[in-house]
Amino acid sequence: MITVVGSINMDLVVQTDRFPKQGETTLGTLYTTVPGGKGANQAVAAARLGNEVQMIGAVGQDAFGTELVAGLESEGIQVESIKRIDGASGIANILLSEGDNRIIVVPGANHSVTAEEIVAFTEQLAASDLVIMQLETPIPVIQQTLKICHQHGVPSILNPAPASGFTADFLPYCTYLTPNETEAEEIFGDNWEKALEEYPNRLVVTLGQKGAQFYDGQKHVLVKGFSTKAVDTTGAGDTFNGALGAALVEGQGFEEAVRFANAAASLSVEKFGAQGGMPNRAAVEARMT
Ligand code: ADP
Repeated sequence: MITVVGSINMDLVVQTDRFPKQGETTLGTLYTTVPGGKGANQAVAAARLGNEVQMIGAVGQDAFGTELVAGLESEGIQVESIKRIDGASGIANILLSEGDNRIIVVPGANHSVTAEEIVAFTEQLAASDLVIMQLETPIPVIQQTLKICHQHGVPSILNPAPASGFTADFLPYCTYLTPNETEAEEIFGDNWEKALEEYPNRLVVTLGQKGAQFYDGQKHVLVKGFSTKAVDTTGAGDTFNGALGAALVEGQGFEEAVRFANAAASLSVEKFGAQGGMPNRAAVEARMT
C-alpha cells in the first residue's frame, strides 16, 4: 500500500487571447475544471500503475469536494481518510494566455489538516510500504508524517514542491527527496550537484526532458529522459513521483526506478491536464522497451 499525504485541488482553467490589464474585463475563450493538487496527482499516478493507494488530505463540503473525492475513488484510490470540512475545497485559478500562465492557488481545505490528525493515522502510515508527500499541506503535517515514517522504518518520498516550504530539518527524516532543478537550486543553491553527493541514492533532481540526475555513491548518474512531443507538461513531476514510488515499492534498484519514472512522466506530457496523460503500466513498459 502506498499512502499519499497531500493536497487535493480543483484546477479552474481559463484561456484568453491576452491577459486583462488591471481593472479591465476581457472575454475568455475557454473555461474548464480539471482535478489537480500535487497530492491527488501523485496518488493517481501511482494508482494507474496498479498500486493500492490511500490518500490522506482534506476537501470542502462543496460541489468540488464531492467531485474530487469521486474522481479519486474512480481511480481505485482509498478515500476514507480524506476529511470533509465545512469550508471550501482547495482550488488553483489558472489563467492561460500569450503562451504563458498566471496561477493563484487557494489552499482552502488542504490547510485544515493538522499534525494531531496525522498522529491519529499512525497505524495506517506504519503499515504502508511507502509514503509520498509534497509541500502543499501545512509544514507541521509533513514534519509529523516524516517522523512517524522514520520511527516505523517506512520509506518516504518528499517531493519538495513548492520549495518555499522546505526546511533543512526534513532531510534526515525523508528517505528520498525529489526536487526539480529550480527547487534544487532553491534548497541547495547553485551548487546542488555537490549536494547530490551527500545523499547518494536518496536525492534525485528531475531535469525536464533531459531526465533526472542522482549520485550512486561513486559517480553521478544522468538517467536520460524519453524524448517525445510534449503537449502539456503540467503534472510531469507528479507522474514522476507516483511512478518512482511504484517502482521502489516493487523493489526496483534506484537507477531502474528513476528510469521507470522518466518513462511514465514522458507519457504524461503527451496529453492535456495533469492527470489526463498519466499512463498505465503496460504503456510505461512499452515505452521502456
Ligand atoms: P516538474 O514537472 O516538477 O517541473 P520536470 O520538468 O523536471 O519537473 O519533469 C519531471 C520529469 O518529467 C522529468 O524528469 C522527465 O522524466 C519528465 N519530463 C518532463 N518534461 C518532459 C518532456 N518534454 N519530454 C519527456 N519527458 C519529460
